[in-house]
Amino acid sequence: MGLESHSGGEVSPLVRPTRAVVDTEALAENLREIRRVAPGRPVLGVVKADAYGHGATLVGPALEAAGIDWLGVALVEEGIELRERGVRVPVLVLDGAFGSDCSVLFEYELTPVVYRLEQLDALAASAGRLGRRPRAHLKVDSGMGRLGVLPEDVPAFARAARERGVEFEGVCSHFANADQGDEPSVRLQGERFDAAVAQVRAAGHAPTWLHLANSAAALELPWAHGTLLRPGLMLYGYVPAERLRGRVSLRPALRWITEILQVKRLPKGSPVSYGGRFVTSRPSVLATLAVGYADGYRRGFSGKVSVLVRGRRAPVVGVITMDLCVADVTDVPGASVGDEVVLLGRQGGAEIPVGELARAGDTIDYEVLCGISSRVPRVAAA
Ligand SMILES: *Cc1c(COP(=O)(O)O)cnc(C)c1O
Repeated sequence: MGLESHSGGEVSPLVRPTRAVVDTEALAENLREIRRVAPGRPVLGVVKADAYGHGATLVGPALEAAGIDWLGVALVEEGIELRERGVRVPVLVLDGAFGSDCSVLFEYELTPVVYRLEQLDALAASAGRLGRRPRAHLKVDSGMGRLGVLPEDVPAFARAARERGVEFEGVCSHFANADQGDEPSVRLQGERFDAAVAQVRAAGHAPTWLHLANSAAALELPWAHGTLLRPGLMLYGYVPAERLRGRVSLRPALRWITEILQVKRLPKGSPVSYGGRFVTSRPSVLATLAVGYADGYRRGFSGKVSVLVRGRRAPVVGVITMDLCVADVTDVPGASVGDEVVLLGRQGGAEIPVGELARAGDTIDYEVLCGISSRVPRVAAA
């Protein structure tokens, strides 16, 4: 049928109708919108976790074509996947998880973030063997309490890098509360970051890339823009906090769809799915859908979410099972086998926003998106 899956770098024919359809034009529009709200700054697009579930091998090349300046991944493996798809822009590895032989970084032209002395040793040794220049971005822990060199250790770490010939071409940090806006803990992280940059310079580095602005900071905190923005969520078309919705015009790039596999009429009083926790309260028309929790349509959504069929909402009833679930289409005239069913995104004038699934699953938009499992093929919108 001419459709290709972009999951895991594989291309295979699509048979099951469940898929995540990604509109690469929306990605390009969202990038333009980020450049509008935060003008004059290069953008590093975060495409970790298979591009927030959108498919990195689809999103990476699309963002490159749209003029993105950098891409950011969590893992070395994710960086390799981008290079194997022909991505040429600089790629930053955000988690810095690499071992004593890091020649793979040079082989695939991946720039790591660093925060431990052993990483400096490894970079210097591999670069020496390969006749290359060891370069990295220093990660500073300015208050997130997770990854990074603590502020008081920055001067010694920067000197240690110089001694080993490792050049900090970037300095970065990560906000813990940027979605809360301009509040004291966010300010404090910014001040610590600025101090760290000064110390890195004093140690003899000349970092070009100063970055700590995730989506929320890119949108709201101009003082935190540094010389490179580092948004993820906004690129995919979502705001990092509800209160920011009016400030920016973004379009969700992903539609998660499936089809009706079977339609049946059941009398009032019929139990549905494991445990019979849902019992029809009227003569009902039920549609069995080709999606379940193994696809990331979480069991915890059971009884709390709806899908779109023929432009109307239909509640998911009974427990969501591994491969299948059931929607009540009694109020959707004409619902038939083969109808497109939208789990997330738009159909006609109706929409299931990601926040609706996040609330149902007692989680956040990010986790719903990257929870769409690798069993779901990612395809480019026609
Ligand atoms: C995920 C991540 C981002 C992007 O955050 P968004 O809130 O999606 O914009 C930026 N920087 C780092 C280090 C990250 O891990």
